[in-house]
Amino acid sequence: MKPNTDLNEALFERARRVIPGGVNSPVRAFRAVGGTPRFVRRAQGAYFWDANDQRFIDYIGSWGPMILGHGHPAVLEAVQKAAVDGFSFGAPTEREIELAEAILALVPSMDMVRLVSSGTEAGMSAIRLARGATGRNKIVKFEGCYHGHADALLVKAGSGLATFGNPTSAGVPAEVVQHTLVLEYNNIAQLEQAFALHGADIAGLMIEPIAGNMNFVRASLPFMQRCRELCTQHGALLVFDEVMTGCRVALGSAQSVYARDLPGFAPDLTVLGKVIGGGMPLAAFGGRRAVMEQLAPLGPVYQAGTLSGNPVATACGLATLREIGRPGFFEALSRKTRSLVDGLAAAAAAEGVAFSGDCEGGMFGFFLLPELPQNYAQVMKTEGARFNTLFHGLLARGVYIAPALYEAGFVSAAHSEEDIAATVAAAREVFQTLRG
Ligand SMILES: *Cc1c(COP(=O)(O)O)cnc(C)c1O
Repeated sequence: MKPNTDLNEALFERARRVIPGGVNSPVRAFRAVGGTPRFVRRAQGAYFWDANDQRFIDYIGSWGPMILGHGHPAVLEAVQKAAVDGFSFGAPTEREIELAEAILALVPSMDMVRLVSSGTEAGMSAIRLARGATGRNKIVKFEGCYHGHADALLVKAGSGLATFGNPTSAGVPAEVVQHTLVLEYNNIAQLEQAFALHGADIAGLMIEPIAGNMNFVRASLPFMQRCRELCTQHGALLVFDEVMTGCRVALGSAQSVYARDLPGFAPDLTVLGKVIGGGMPLAAFGGRRAVMEQLAPLGPVYQAGTLSGNPVATACGLATLREIGRPGFFEALSRKTRSLVDGLAAAAAAEGVAFSGDCEGGMFGFFLLPELPQNYAQVMKTEGARFNTLFHGLLARGVYIAPALYEAGFVSAAHSEEDIAATVAAAREVFQTLRG
């Protein structure tokens, strides 16, 4: 056998012997795009370096958390200090209060918040709370939205509105998803029909307000307004899954973006993760006081966690929120993200490649389609082979975007104008091969 000189390939071989698929979260495996995953050795600012010491401009940023870029000095210092004082206590700390206060200050629809360790855990707990607080069982979700891998949320649309969903994973009994109704995103008629049929049994409607798990698709204003009205009218809780968008599309999260156009708009419950942990395992869910007081130890809805409110993670989250709260931070980040999307659009136009893109704050998405899609089925009209050519073309030029066409992208404060320009130049070269 000839020696393997690609260290990523060697690591991948070794990983596959001991970890299913060689990865600890499926999309990292490059199954959608083919090829060998890059094993990250270290990261700094807007870059990471793989096992071969090749540098990449990083547009994943741990799938959103690294909004300041990697290794931000203030965050690093906070984490190092916290680690010296202890990793985990299983008893309360002042820093948990500080982080809770910081989160509530940013997201005023939340009166109270509970800290947990992952977005999955937060979403699962929010559903249990919505059910416990309303005494109802049914949950509405939308095709293409991801809310973590809790059993009841791993579900796709069934054959009709009256039939509820089918599990998308083996190991999830049909009985477990029988209360989950899956609707088409941005489809007002279907939403109205679902509430007309099941309104009195619906505990909550869970939605990614700007969906980042089908690339980047905004809920339209009329659709969002209708979600709010129908939940209020039928006594269901509107649950915003802002694990990705929270403190990423705006300091006040996506709900503040909708409140610009819909005065007074607010969800009943909000799920946060990713940015609020700054790269550490930390997530949260919160909302109106009367609902949150249903949680144990005050109320009958059980929820707990050994590592919840972890002292090192809360230090990382707090330091991150402090930095993104500085005046002008989001304006600068938004400008940069916009310049990337505009640059890519101009490069595609110059090469005659169909392209549409959108962004909000530090989150973006683009499609090799002439118009922005409005739902999952439209997103999936992108030709996979063309996306894969783009992905591998960029990768070969040192630009790392998500290895699947249904994922959003992220710009950090550490990305420079030169990084953006280099990315656009690389994309233009690849677009030449996609012409026609
Ligand atoms: C990432 C994500 C989750 C799951 O969070 P984990 O920390 O990976 O469990 C849930 N909802 C949305 C919208 C996400 O983007």
